[in-house]
Amino acid sequence: MERTLLIIKPDAVEANNIGNILKIIVDVGFTIKAMRMTRLTRDQAAKFYGIHEGKPFFESLLDYMTSGKIVPVALERENAVAKLREVLGATDPAKADTGTIRNLYGSSIERNASHGSDSAENGKIETAFFFGEMEY
Ligand code: ATP
Ligand code: MG
Repeated sequence: MERTLLIIKPDAVEANNIGNILKIIVDVGFTIKAMRMTRLTRDQAAKFYGIHEGKPFFESLLDYMTSGKIVPVALERENAVAKLREVLGATDPAKADTGTIRNLYGSSIERNASHGSDSAENGKIETAFFFGEMEY
């Protein structure tokens, strides 16, 4: 079974959308394997989004991702990575399909409510970033 990481981002936690987002996730057949509420340090956020270091939006992304609590969620499903990105919708909520999480709960290309891993390999790396095997 493929593993992927969902993060309910600070804007969505602040807007009380944790339950709404998790409902969409379980309704499309994901199993929630591990979950917690936490707040990232700037160093942790910089490590997690290290691939974007040097991009114009990087510092602002770190401000945003450390601005409040987040909910990382380890998910399993067949074809988990692709399915999560489908239900998240496009990075920019304005371009996300109707009914997707970012369409419903995102407010800008930065404040887009949720993260999803972009490959099966990163699904493993990113779930391990937050959760130990004992927590499954
Ligand atoms: P995520 O990795 O969070 O699932 P993604 O894979 O759809 O999103 P990435 O290109 O990896 O998109 O960007 C990571 C995050 O950085 C985005 O989700 C968004 O919060 C922010 N971001 C991306 N592009 C921009 C931009 N042009 N301006 C501002 N913020 C951006
Ligand atoms: Mg990404």
